[in-house]
Amino acid sequence: PFDPNGHQATVKGDITIDNIGYTYYGSDQPVLSNVSVSLKQGEKLALLGRTGCGKSTLLQLLTRNWDPQQGQIRIDDVALAEWHEDSLRKAVTVVSQRVDVFNGSLRENLILAKPEGTDEEFVAALNSVGLQALLDGKGLDTWLGEGGRQISGGERRRLGIARALLHDAPILLLDEPTEGLDRRTEQQILNLLLEHAKDKTVLFITHRLVGLEQMDQICLMDEGEIIEHGKHKEL
Ligand code: ATP
Ligand code: MG
Repeated sequence: PFDPNGHQATVKGDITIDNIGYTYYGSDQPVLSNVSVSLKQGEKLALLGRTGCGKSTLLQLLTRNWDPQQGQIRIDDVALAEWHEDSLRKAVTVVSQRVDVFNGSLRENLILAKPEGTDEEFVAALNSVGLQALLDGKGLDTWLGEGGRQISGGERRRLGIARALLHDAPILLLDEPTEGLDRRTEQQILNLLLEHAKDKTVLFITHRLVGLEQMDQICLMDEGEIIEHGKHKEL
């Protein structure tokens, strides 16, 4: 599957998390132990669990921000360690729990998700997440952050989702993407994401019990371990 430069040709989006253990540097307690989950291309998994149980940590390992001390993660049966950095960035989209907003124009805040994107595409992405009001006045040149428009928590989150729509990778990792949104907006955003991700592999971290019936698998974590795993009906 690799070209001579180490680039993955076409990514399907199978994910294998194989008996992962992870301990933060300087800690004597593992934050994840014996975590195993597999997702076939196009499958959707919801990951639930109390605050601090290790959900976001697992996402950090999936994007190779940190490496597990035990076990292995594979995408399309290739160990993460072997992935070319650029290929991995193209294969995986993350909406993190804390969406970063840069001091810069609205355009600059979107273009990183799609360097070849056009203004029309950026505007369409903003419209689809309900952020068209940010375009008022200066359009995509509207300045965000310091010295510019301060955006609310919910707007920040929707900006993260607009980026994910633009990035359009075969794997989508969502860390509480609708936290802080009202019920109606939450439902709209979830529908939008699921429609966008119909053929994508999705790992969806959530506290809320919304949208679970649309998931293929549900995992419940506690203190770094998966304590329940099954289908919506079974749990
Ligand atoms: P929440 O639902 O509140 O987002 P979570 O399940 O995502 O929680 P994590 O962020 O994965 O939980 O954190 C799991 C544990 O690891 C927590 O006890 C947390 O304090 C600890 N932890 C997280 N990040 C670090 C870090 N960079 N260094 C040391 N410990 C950390
Ligand atoms: Mg978290």
